[in-house]
Amino acid sequence: MKVICVGRNYAAHAAELNNPVPTTPLLFMKPATAVLKDGKPFFFPEFSKDIHYEVELVVKICKSGKHIEPKFAHKYYQEVSLGIDFTARDVQEACKAAGHPWEIAKAFDNSAVIGQFLPIQEVPKDEKGDIAFSLQKNGTTVQIGSTADMITKIDELIAFASQYFTLQVGDLIYTGTPKGVGPIAIGDKLVGFIGDKTLLECEIK
Ligand code: ZN
Repeated sequence: MKVICVGRNYAAHAAELNNPVPTTPLLFMKPATAVLKDGKPFFFPEFSKDIHYEVELVVKICKSGKHIEPKFAHKYYQEVSLGIDFTARDVQEACKAAGHPWEIAKAFDNSAVIGQFLPIQEVPKDEKGDIAFSLQKNGTTVQIGSTADMITKIDELIAFASQYFTLQVGDLIYTGTPKGVGPIAIGDKLVGFIGDKTLLECEIK
């Protein structure tokens, strides 16, 4: 399996990092070795002094496909969860400054925390069908997001990604983070919610 991530999919988050808002989705990938699941702790790696959390809505691909049309994209996922796209911000800044790819800052081991999945029918939605989610760090809410604020919506992301990458059963799409990203420290505890359902917990060790 692979993890496909979307960068800068919320205008307010692009602004907080002084990045321009992209006109087409900005994709990057993480390998299967990046996935951290079952509530396991995250061990702060030695190569960075500035790891940031980014909470994101995640969809799990349930059917293989390529060149998927947006109107059929909903058939390719049945479950969603929350994930954390851990980012070594100091390493990423150095990569960006050098004009290099981001992989070592984004795709390292255990950098893709994934919570429990919920069938799409059981996901709390508002009257417009949008999904609200949030992240707490040590009991304080640090990020609040809604699919309403995504620049490129889930079905369009699936259509766009599948022009380049064959989607396979079990692939995960991290759909971008809202504003409020920030650093973690050893001893922190992150808890992610969709509506009032707790889907993700991760201790930093
Ligand atoms: Zn991200």
